[in-house]
Amino acid sequence: MLQFPSPYDKTPPEKIKIVRPSPDSLDSTIANRCIGSLIGLAIGDALGAGVEFCSREDLVKKPVEDMKTGGTWNLKAGQWTDDTSMSLCLASSLITQKDFNLYDQMVRYKWWYKHGFLSSTGRCFDIGNATRMSLEEFQRRQNVLKKDRKLRVDLEVDQLPLDVIKKHKFDVFCGSPGSAGNGGLMRLAPVPLFFYQVPTLAVEYSGQSARLTHGDVRAVDACRYYGALIAAVVRGESKEQLLNDKFYDDHKLWFGTKPLDASIMEVASGSYKQPKGYDDGIRGGGFVVQSLRAALWAFWSTETFEDGVINAVNLGSDTDTTAAIYGQLAGAYYGYSSIPEKWIKKLYARDLIVCIAEWLQALSYSKNVETASSQGASATQMEPNDELERFDDN
Ligand SMILES: [Mg+2]
Repeated sequence: MLQFPSPYDKTPPEKIKIVRPSPDSLDSTIANRCIGSLIGLAIGDALGAGVEFCSREDLVKKPVEDMKTGGTWNLKAGQWTDDTSMSLCLASSLITQKDFNLYDQMVRYKWWYKHGFLSSTGRCFDIGNATRMSLEEFQRRQNVLKKDRKLRVDLEVDQLPLDVIKKHKFDVFCGSPGSAGNGGLMRLAPVPLFFYQVPTLAVEYSGQSARLTHGDVRAVDACRYYGALIAAVVRGESKEQLLNDKFYDDHKLWFGTKPLDASIMEVASGSYKQPKGYDDGIRGGGFVVQSLRAALWAFWSTETFEDGVINAVNLGSDTDTTAAIYGQLAGAYYGYSSIPEKWIKKLYARDLIVCIAEWLQALSYSKNVETASSQGASATQMEPNDELERFDDN
């Protein structure tokens, strides 16, 4: 089993010891999609990182075509930002807990924020406002819990089992009601990759994963819809099915009794199909509805991973996140084998990301709980895994 080091060890992701799942536990077609999704996210992030906050006008004059050293965060070519770090934190929780444990997900995000866990530079150098405020609130709630349980060190409260967390009625949802940024969507992929076999859970948990840090229904529903799309890709649906204006109607059972918010339904009904892109109002900003439209536009208007990711970045503004969101879906759809080798070679900690994606597939949730409504779907439906995570020194 792949084990993650303690956040206090400050092990760089490239140095984490890789233990791959046995080939017998992998389906090569599905694995190609899962790896494509996570690598696609990281490549989009790395391509956009150097020009984050640059305007569309600047990028029209000098478009991004490759990974470069320097730029906004002064990163080396191939290094990635918060989008990939948080996504790897989420994936590390799913595969070590073998469970959808929202408390543990927040703990890992906090490790990234406070200790640089799974950061490409060893520290958290960029964080969205909503995410930062939510993690500060989470820490505050944890401090109350720590006092209540008379615990001495943070790691003890971080590793409390889920039943104890539930007994204390600990509220893990730390997002403010008005937070409608793209911070949940940028890290989403591990959830639908892990739950693709049970789409009702993939959709419900995609929404919950966003609600940890973003309380607005648009942030939650963007993730429910995009989670459904990623699950559909992994399940082998065609581009025509994915981009059908009736996608929601065709997959209504996946969404249970909660319809999508009108703003997301409008996107799902095809509002991103704008032939002139930026000139038709497609924008790469931080508002989740904007990002969702932009990522889908890039996927809809191109035929290859490469063309779409470049177009997503060159919209400007929140370049890395637009491209990371695009990369999750397009990478799964075109598959790992279709992503340009020149970028895969440059990508920081590529072997670790591939290995994590393989574990997501090898351990993907497969219990037959399709009869449960998505309303009723909750972490309690899954077998509790009370075992504390054991760190090793790798
Ligand atoms: Mg970023």
